[in-house]
Amino acid sequence: MSIKNNLLEIKSSLPENVTLVAVSKTKPVSDLIEAYEAGQRIFGENYVQELVEKHEQLPLDIQWHFIGHLQSKKAKLIAPFVDLIHGVDSLKLLEEINKQALKNDRIIECLLQIHIAEEETKFGLDETELNDLLNSESFKNLKNIKIKGLMGMATFTENQNQIKKEFLHLKSIFEKISILNSNFSILSMGMSGDYQLAIDSGSTMIRIGSSIFGGRK
Ligand SMILES: *Cc1c(COP(=O)(O)O)cnc(C)c1O
Repeated sequence: MSIKNNLLEIKSSLPENVTLVAVSKTKPVSDLIEAYEAGQRIFGENYVQELVEKHEQLPLDIQWHFIGHLQSKKAKLIAPFVDLIHGVDSLKLLEEINKQALKNDRIIECLLQIHIAEEETKFGLDETELNDLLNSESFKNLKNIKIKGLMGMATFTENQNQIKKEFLHLKSIFEKISILNSNFSILSMGMSGDYQLAIDSGSTMIRIGSSIFGGRK
């Protein structure tokens, strides 16, 4: 299957309210161009340097999402152009993104990452930490970021029930906050292996890499 066919097949199966982020990390620019020519405009990258280089080489109407774990000191490199930062999980990082956004005279949209998986290694806040962050005075003073919603990754397992349970947990947190916060409109969950379950559980944004571009080394 070609990148174009993979993309069209996935897109044709998506409900209208679900946005597809094509995750192109480690893939060559030629692969991104193929996806671009098939109509894809939103790309997700995990590594700052790679994102910066691809941004320089590719068309300006691409929306670039940063989906990896951003180190504070690297926020300045993507602040001039990034459209959405998915994996933010600390006030310190938000403050740095805000500072760099201000320097660039921009408002940068972010998603807060929630820890829903069993694995210890995955980043993210729990529900209490999320509420503490959103209610803190320091957070309310950040005028150059806008939190658009939440992001999460399920446990890497074959157990569909567990994955579903984790996605529904994230969805329930998302719903509680959206009632109070009208900026909340994006729930980023679902990857190649579990996006159907994620959509069934209320995802509005899926991040698909290998099912579009093939496996990574
Ligand atoms: C790599 C990555 C993806 C895409 O993974 P696939 O399984 O290749 O679809 C999605 N989200 C995040 C955060 C990733 O790091």
